[in-house]
Amino acid sequence: MPKPEITLYGAHWCPDCRHSKQFLGEHQIPYNWVDIEQDKEAELLVIEKNQGKRIIPTIVFADGSFLVEPNNAELAAKLGLKTQASRTHYDLIVLGGGPAGLTAALYTAREAIDTLVIERAAFGGQAAVTERIDNMPGFPEGVGGMEFSQRLRQQAERFGVELLQAQDVTEVTSHDNYRCAKTADGSQYSARALLVATGSRYRRLNVPGESEYLGAGVHFCATCDGPFYRGKRVVVVGGGNSAAQESLLLTKFADQVTILVRGGQLKASQILQENVLDHPKIIVRWHTDVVAFTGKDSKLTALHIKNNQTENEEELAVDGTFIFIGLEPNTEFLKGSEVLLDRWGFIVTGHSLRHQEKWPKSLELRDPYLLETSVPGIFAAGDVRDNSTKQVVSSAGEGSSAALMIREYLRLA
Ligand SMILES: Cc1cc2nc3c(=O)[nH]c(=O)nc-3n(C[C@H](O)[C@H](O)[C@H](O)COP(=O)(O)OP(=O)(O)OC[C@H]3O[C@@H](n4cnc5c(N)ncnc54)[C@H](O)[C@@H]3O)c2cc1C
Repeated sequence: MPKPEITLYGAHWCPDCRHSKQFLGEHQIPYNWVDIEQDKEAELLVIEKNQGKRIIPTIVFADGSFLVEPNNAELAAKLGLKTQASRTHYDLIVLGGGPAGLTAALYTAREAIDTLVIERAAFGGQAAVTERIDNMPGFPEGVGGMEFSQRLRQQAERFGVELLQAQDVTEVTSHDNYRCAKTADGSQYSARALLVATGSRYRRLNVPGESEYLGAGVHFCATCDGPFYRGKRVVVVGGGNSAAQESLLLTKFADQVTILVRGGQLKASQILQENVLDHPKIIVRWHTDVVAFTGKDSKLTALHIKNNQTENEEELAVDGTFIFIGLEPNTEFLKGSEVLLDRWGFIVTGHSLRHQEKWPKSLELRDPYLLETSVPGIFAAGDVRDNSTKQVVSSAGEGSSAALMIREYLRLA
């Protein structure tokens, strides 16, 4: 692995440092983290760069240039991320650059459908933060999640897809023949069709202390943050495939990985269960709930846990915790739009629209296309869609199907 060319100088208690770390992590940009409270030389360097002041985060780049307390826009600009589109109108706008969105985009661009993809973090979505994808057809040895994501991005670029990064879609509207997306910087883009492929995100425990220690001991991505726990004790919360997979990854760094499972068994696949239960560094604690996170100097130090059978509570000293308890759809920006969501917030598409208690108005005019939402011309694919199977290959498959439906829609629209 090449040495990171960016060094982030900060301290564990500093919220702005956490923010910068999160931005770099979300965009999968490698960096060195130096806590200036543990490194006198680093502290002096920060003071020198800031003309006598000890300001953090101070982020130093390969060419010696540096940013002090940057916001996301400044950091994105410095890193050369493209955050503004070249035009305001396209044939198709794809929201989300994960496997579903990028596959759809490369299909449409290849057919000369003018396509813009808007992504808020790193291209590749959840696949990019997966250590290894073992079940991708055509990769007999498996493929690294990051490598797979880079390949997808390159392929989309080869067909001329325009890609925006570090832009959060905040609103979707629809009028006449226009489907519009607004981004957090206030830009508004319109298109003849829109594909929502914004996937899902990690569910939180919602217990005291969880938000307070986010990035300071509480994490949701072992690939991104596992290396910070070399030689330490970590806890993984969850009992499914992700929890098992990520626990195994964490054993590469941590000395001990304790998995807290709510029930009496793991829900992970048989092979993962065997690997986890046989691993000498992993301890599994059954029937265990997390009640609270506590810490010292803004850093997590312990979990309060409870056995949900005996009701016994105890304090578990930890260096870090990784939470893998399922996913929630990224659909907040659709609230207020006419796109119909199921009760969990996933997008309803195609024939499922006919099974809703109240049919959307659009069904009075025609049957929806496969993967079309309750708003004609707005489609959905991948993890964000209700009843999707939440896999890389099926998300990519839905992306390609959506692209073919969109081609048909645009031909007749
Ligand atoms: C830890 C882990 C391990 C996994 N392992 C495997 C595996 O081994 N094999 C397998 O097949 N699957 C695996 N999966 C599941 C797989 O990664 C997902 O099913 C797949 O990535 C879903 O693709 P998607 O494109 O639908 O959504 P995502 O991958 O979630 O991509 C959605 C994209 O949309 C972006 N986005 C969200 N909201 C907005 C917004 N408002 N504005 C702009 N952009 C936005 C996100 O940043 C993201 O990049 C794993 C998932 C995780 C979390």
